[in-house]
Amino acid sequence: MRIAMIGTGYVGLVSGACFSDFGHDVTCVDKDAAKIEALRQGIMPIFEPGLDELVERNVAGGRLSFATDLAPAVAAADAVFIAVGTPSRRGDGHADLSYVFGAAEEIARALRKPAVVVTKSTVPVGTGDEVERIIREAAPAAKARVVSNPEFLREGAAIEDFKRPDRIVVGTEDHLAAEAMREIYRPLYLNKAPLVVTSRRTAELIKYAANAFLATKITFINEIADLCEMVGADVQDVSRGIGLDNRIGSKFLHAGPGYGGSCFPKDTLALLKTAEDYQSPLRIVESVVKVNDLRKRAMGRKVIRALGGDARGKTVALLGLTFKPNTDDMREAPSIAIVQALEDAGAKIRAYDPEGIEQARPMMPEIEFSTSPYEAAKGADAVVLVTEWDVLRALDLKRLAAAMAEPVFVDLRNIYPTEEVENAGFRSHGIGRATEMET
Ligand code: NAD
Repeated sequence: MRIAMIGTGYVGLVSGACFSDFGHDVTCVDKDAAKIEALRQGIMPIFEPGLDELVERNVAGGRLSFATDLAPAVAAADAVFIAVGTPSRRGDGHADLSYVFGAAEEIARALRKPAVVVTKSTVPVGTGDEVERIIREAAPAAKARVVSNPEFLREGAAIEDFKRPDRIVVGTEDHLAAEAMREIYRPLYLNKAPLVVTSRRTAELIKYAANAFLATKITFINEIADLCEMVGADVQDVSRGIGLDNRIGSKFLHAGPGYGGSCFPKDTLALLKTAEDYQSPLRIVESVVKVNDLRKRAMGRKVIRALGGDARGKTVALLGLTFKPNTDDMREAPSIAIVQALEDAGAKIRAYDPEGIEQARPMMPEIEFSTSPYEAAKGADAVVLVTEWDVLRALDLKRLAAAMAEPVFVDLRNIYPTEEVENAGFRSHGIGRATEMET
């Protein structure tokens, strides 16, 4: 099949590269000429494990190419995927659909043969109907079947997720469109990845419901962690104790500094806006959004408490800045609110991140960046582990403590057992641990 992927960001690039690896002929299109030029030279615009080899292999095999001009790619395509961004609209939290609708209009004018037009971007219920209307109006003769096919990949494990998905969701009531989608995903379908074929509106809602549920699970355990600190219980044991119950499951039960990233914050907000529009309140999701927002800043206060209640003139070393490991994505990362809270309290911040510094630099102009965790810790009054990168999982804690002015370790991911941290000479602070009771 010939595929045009419109938008070459995390989702478009990974999906396009994986489709080409299945044997399809893929052109990834993006308006960002610098990004396309870099990709043509084999330079990846994002950090994602395994992506550069995947792209290189398929470019060399002649199955994957990059373009800034949408028209020729769409004219030749059997399937056109829309994978452009749908950020929160400034001011009201609705999904900003201007990129999706803009792409739909351009696609309509470029279509030259019957094709499926597939929305892979995360879009509110009813967007597929609007895409269909835009195409019909802009090009009444075009033969386009509009399908919803939300993407569930996780940054940091995107290729694995795309190639071994828990399920593929296809939203269409059109028999031929469903057939085309089966053909596109055949290699996965043969591998027994469940295919959920449903209505377009249902598919659109599935994506938001999934993200809102996962955000709820994280927020639930975060609040349980707070309660653990008050009652002298251990949240890691609570997580294990409830997660081993198959009805609950152990994933997304790790207490931490609150969820961030390019999806959960904006998707929960957009879902709430849909609920508001249809006067069908989602009170649980409303609470989740509020609790999570408060939590990120509360983590800053936690660090200040660990500093003895006053951060003025103190130096804090943050280890990890990205919203999770194995990505350079800084969108809505909890570190942003933590830095803000600490700076507001008069602290000086130093930070280390294995891949995120380039993205973080413009967002955090006041902080000093270090090239290693030990350099960041030099002379600091507290070290705060914010993101659980593998390179931060086996730190030489004694060396770290020795480099600091005050040996205070705040582990917002509970990577290190309290005893190990204390044995290295630190005063240890974790999340939802019985030892937090004294603080
Ligand atoms: P992104 O911002 O990384 O990339 C979007 C790209 O689209 C940009 O490079 C932009 O230049 C390009 N673009 C915009 N309009 C265009 C047009 N008319 N023609 C060509 N290119 C155009 O976004 P992303 O993180 O890949 O997310 C894309 C969508 O997928 C969003 O709706 C997001 O919610 C959803 N999603 C993201 C993830 C994730 O982990 N990032 C996971 C699942 C779903």
